[in-house]
Amino acid sequence: MALIVQKYGGTSVGSVERIKNVAKRIAKTRAQGHDVVVVVSAMSGETNRLVALAHEIQAYPDPREMDVVLATGEQVTIGLLAMALQNIGVAAKSYTGWQVAVKTDCAHTKARIESIDDAKMRADLQDGRVVIVAGFQGISSHGDISTLGRGGSDTSAVALAAALKADECQIYTDVDGVYTTDPRVVPEARRMDTITFDEMLELASLGSKVLQIRSVEFAGKYKVRLRVLSSLQEGGEGTLITFEEDENMEQAIVSGIAFDKNQARINVRGVPDKPGIAYQILGAVADANIDVDMIIQNVGNEGTTDFSFTVPRGDYQPTLDLLGNLKNTIGADEISGDDNVCKVSIVGLGMRSHVGVASKMFRALAADNINIQMISTSEIKISVLIDEKYMELATRVLHKEFELDQTKERA
Ligand code: ASP
Ligand code: MG
Repeated sequence: MALIVQKYGGTSVGSVERIKNVAKRIAKTRAQGHDVVVVVSAMSGETNRLVALAHEIQAYPDPREMDVVLATGEQVTIGLLAMALQNIGVAAKSYTGWQVAVKTDCAHTKARIESIDDAKMRADLQDGRVVIVAGFQGISSHGDISTLGRGGSDTSAVALAAALKADECQIYTDVDGVYTTDPRVVPEARRMDTITFDEMLELASLGSKVLQIRSVEFAGKYKVRLRVLSSLQEGGEGTLITFEEDENMEQAIVSGIAFDKNQARINVRGVPDKPGIAYQILGAVADANIDVDMIIQNVGNEGTTDFSFTVPRGDYQPTLDLLGNLKNTIGADEISGDDNVCKVSIVGLGMRSHVGVASKMFRALAADNINIQMISTSEIKISVLIDEKYMELATRVLHKEFELDQTKERA
């Protein structure tokens, strides 16, 4: 008998019919003799609806009150699911985040979980009940309702699994696992049976929407066994995120491709090439709480230098404004940028031991006339910044180039 945490996303609980199906799936897991703790999202579209309502009243909704509104979506689904379980003879009890309690910091709308009290859940499990917990929410250290950022119920589930030392955390979603890339863009994309934690972490941070990045970080920190599965189809093993690298495994050089449109490029041209200039520019951006991702500095020959860097698209105009104000102080010739860009990345553990991966990537993109604006690399990923209009083409080209469409298994 195992303790399993199951998380069902918005699509999986998107209608009464689907909620009833989820109940059946939970009942089946119970019938196999397992203890089950369930985490649910709001019904699909609900959180967007709540965000829109808030924006009709305030252009910049008060974060504390925003969380009060946002947390209601999940409260509906936990109650409905508990009823659906009772209807088919499965004892169940639902709890909001604060009732559990999932304690967070006070960063409303993007709070971080600090601790979870498992006493109540344990007592219910002991009494043979299924425990249903609202995802995406908690209670702040000031006693206010908090939420964990969009997509946050993945993180709730993994955090609960860690707190309960669950045997497995199963994330049920509308796809049947982690794919080599988004199948809506590349129909030949394949589901992977396993992916290593490091690769999953890169893919999630580079734009893959399958799992919220914080949930992957949590799984790594607490070594939670994490599996992604479909709630819409029967059977299927989904994708297991593994921590062990099998020595004998023939590592795929590239395992997956991620893309991200939430990008904008900023150029600062002709600043004096002297110590401290990078700090003056990027420090000011960081002080404004803007996340800088890729950075390039080119030394010119007239004692000046150029900087390019990327920021999230929503921070494009604020960054331009901020640097516009600093232009004279830093002695720049020109501040410009482009927010019609995107980042496409290839990820694979096998890159560590293979040379020529980057040149292969660049050659494939060149063959389709796709211009690369910026490049950044780590041990297991290469990212390029390109014109947004080539995002899907680049993803398809690279998927083919690295033969991700072929069932060449990793094992
Ligand atoms: N309902 C929240 C959202 O849409 C949390 C989640 O679904 O993970 O972002
Ligand atoms: Mg999600």
